[in-house]
Parts: sequence; structure tokens; C-alpha cells
Amino acid sequence: MPLIKASCPSCGDVELTLNDIKVMVCSTDGSASYNFRCPGCRFRVAKPAEKAVVDILLSSGVTMSFWRLPLELEEEHHGEPISYDELMDFHYQIATEGWLDRLIGKKTTQDD
Ligand SMILES: [Zn+2]
Repeated sequence: MPLIKASCPSCGDVELTLNDIKVMVCSTDGSASYNFRCPGCRFRVAKPAEKAVVDILLSSGVTMSFWRLPLELEEEHHGEPISYDELMDFHYQIATEGWLDRLIGKKTTQDD
């Protein structure tokens, strides 16, 4: 099986097989990257990839997967972002029994 040379930030140049590398293409903006688990340190390494690199990897037999940015990024938002205090209040709210009913305005059996 052909070997592909890649670079790990910790280990430097490493040799990988086709099965070790995956090309990921974002279907939203067309950006691409490749990733692999380093055979030296076992950390996963991800690097952006230009089209020429993607073409070489794909023609070598590396598999490609598509992903897309979360739809939440396209949502329109109004108002200020939630604060740390609001987040902590919510945290304490959901730590108690009947939190969902309380938050949507229903009475709980504890309130009765
Ligand atoms: Zn490494």
C-alpha cells in the first residue's frame, strides 16, 4: 500500500497509509481539510487543504467525507448574548425538580 508523508506538530514527518487519512470537505463553504491520527503520538492532526492537495489525496485513494456548518449560524439573532449570571441562574433552575414546567409557566405538583 502506498505511503503518504504528512507532518505532525509534535512528531514531525510521519508516514501514513491511505486508510489513515481522511479528507473532509465543508459543503457550505467548500473549504477542505485532511486529518489523521499520528502513528507516533496518537493525537489526531487536522490541517487545512488547498484544492491541489485534496486532488492529490483523492487520486491516491484517500476517502472523502462532507460536512456542513451548523444551521444555527444562519439564524437571525436579536438582543444581547446571554450573560454568565443568566447561565448560572439557568443552571440552578434546571437542577431542581419540575424545572421545565416552571420555565414554561405551568404549575408543578410542588407548587400546588
Ligand atoms: Zn505525532
